[in-house]
Amino acid sequence: MQKNSPDKMVSSSNNVAKLFAPRHLKPPVDWAAENCVLRDNISELCGSLRLFPYAREPMNALVDPMVNKITLCWGSQSSKTTTMYAGVAYLLSEFPKDTLWIMPSAENARAFSKGRWLPFIEDCQPLREPCPISPATGRVDTDKITNMRQEFLNCTLTFAGAGSENNVKSAPVAYLVLDEIDEIDPDIRLAALERIKGRREYKIVQTSTPKDEVGGIWEEYLYGDQRHYFMPCPHCNEMIEFAWKQKDSEGKERYGIAFDEKAKLEDGTWDFDLVSRSAHYRCQKCDGKILDAHKVEMLKQGEWVSQNLNAPTGHRSYQLNSMYAPAITFSDLIVSWLQVSGSIHGLRKFVQGNLAEPWKEDWANQEESNAHELEYDYQRGDLMGEYRIIAADTQTDSFWFVVRGFDRDGKSYLVDCGQVASFGELDEKFDQHKCHVGIIDWAGDRTAEIYEQVFKRRGTWFGSRGWNDLGQGQPYRMQMKDPFTGDQKGRAGRSKIRYLHINKGIYEEEMARLRSMQLSGFYTFADTPKTYYDQLFSTYWVKETTKNGHIKVGKKLKRSRGDHLGDCEIMARALSKFIGIARADRQSPVVSENNQTPKQSKPRRTQSSTGGWW
Ligand SMILES: [Zn+2]
Repeated sequence: MQKNSPDKMVSSSNNVAKLFAPRHLKPPVDWAAENCVLRDNISELCGSLRLFPYAREPMNALVDPMVNKITLCWGSQSSKTTTMYAGVAYLLSEFPKDTLWIMPSAENARAFSKGRWLPFIEDCQPLREPCPISPATGRVDTDKITNMRQEFLNCTLTFAGAGSENNVKSAPVAYLVLDEIDEIDPDIRLAALERIKGRREYKIVQTSTPKDEVGGIWEEYLYGDQRHYFMPCPHCNEMIEFAWKQKDSEGKERYGIAFDEKAKLEDGTWDFDLVSRSAHYRCQKCDGKILDAHKVEMLKQGEWVSQNLNAPTGHRSYQLNSMYAPAITFSDLIVSWLQVSGSIHGLRKFVQGNLAEPWKEDWANQEESNAHELEYDYQRGDLMGEYRIIAADTQTDSFWFVVRGFDRDGKSYLVDCGQVASFGELDEKFDQHKCHVGIIDWAGDRTAEIYEQVFKRRGTWFGSRGWNDLGQGQPYRMQMKDPFTGDQKGRAGRSKIRYLHINKGIYEEEMARLRSMQLSGFYTFADTPKTYYDQLFSTYWVKETTKNGHIKVGKKLKRSRGDHLGDCEIMARALSKFIGIARADRQSPVVSENNQTPKQSKPRRTQSSTGGWW
């Protein structure tokens, strides 16, 4: 695709004169199509640079004298980088001014400049013209056109990365380009912004896929006028946007992308082939089936609409998820969503990369209003799960308890929960639900009594204590504890009980993700009492700003509710991990005196749902 070799990059007085000749301005997108070439090693879409229809307006904003800041919060494959460098090329060519282009690191900047930008200039005649020529060689002066700095005849472009603060702090610039700002050190970003301060005319162009809610592109997007791209539905002609989550005509939340319900198999897994073949977008207004083939025409007729009329004038901000990207199909997206929906890491990457939304730190704050969605089609007391664990939390005059059944693959089912007066009643629950092991937490003045009780049942019961941190991030630690050390009756050293130290921080986070169905496989029985949900949802997290301005997340408790049943769930979960349930490396998870096989009843989801995240 290379049209011009470097030796052809000759300058002449004629070319210099052209730089100052009046021009007939073309819209930037058309200018790019005419003057920019993508080489085949840069993009599959080699040839003349055709930007997607949604790039037209942000590109026009570059030449709008009323606009001085453009923020692109776009998902992967939306060609935000190509759009941005076509935009910079246009500005440098038509309105040449000193420019600073900042990337996450100097290495990124060097690699980008060498591999993409310099070849791009070479192929772009309006940018090749102002390149200085070395009198000695008659070719482009390589002292002046380098990877990190290009001294054109009419302006200078400097690349910088984190760690090159000196570059960032030097002479003032008129154009500032911030690429992947969520990866750029905030100090570098602030230093860069200093360099356009006080200028009357300037442009800031910034792009990124978002990471967190604060301190990056998402915050910038919210400051701006928050534009979304609306297109006419091919069926009802209403203007709609591609939304990952949408509300149907009855106000019920659902996925924008739908597929054949038969693709969800009995055992909870997916027929991905069927998902893929049947995936389509559903119009929010008319339920019409929108196919990938409709996308091109829809995009052409689309327009950006501001969602924030109170934004400062001059700041255009655009958000675009990957459903708009012509190269990505609806089925690509829903299949990868279903594939990652069991892993927080995967979900986070999907939300940030494809939905172009930040990962929300208040993930755990889902209220219990949706808690009934945890309920599976079985009754209280049904012997669900292969291994049942009873967990109890000791109060001054009673015990809170939870019985939960665990399957080998990690799925678990609430079997019973409540409050009883004595250890004898815990024994009854243990027998009734054919439990395999028990675990109990205590503190204060019942210590000696509970030790004694656990000691009596030491074949099946564990003692337990929760900690904020066990060191080195370990989730639990088992200790053989002599309950009678120092006991006046001289029984010290005779026998020991098993005592599980639990890192509550780790399990609280896990419980929060389970209860909000970000992690799947945590179930309750039909009509589980409200007390259970109240206590399960009693912990929540808030964002706090520390004295030095950092954001940290702090745990809070709705105290009036108590969180005893939540604590029981944490103990049961930690113990299930300790005894090896849901660990592929252990074949026989539980050693127990009780070898009865529990009744197997296959759970069935009462409602169809495409996944677990909301
Ligand atoms: Zn429609």
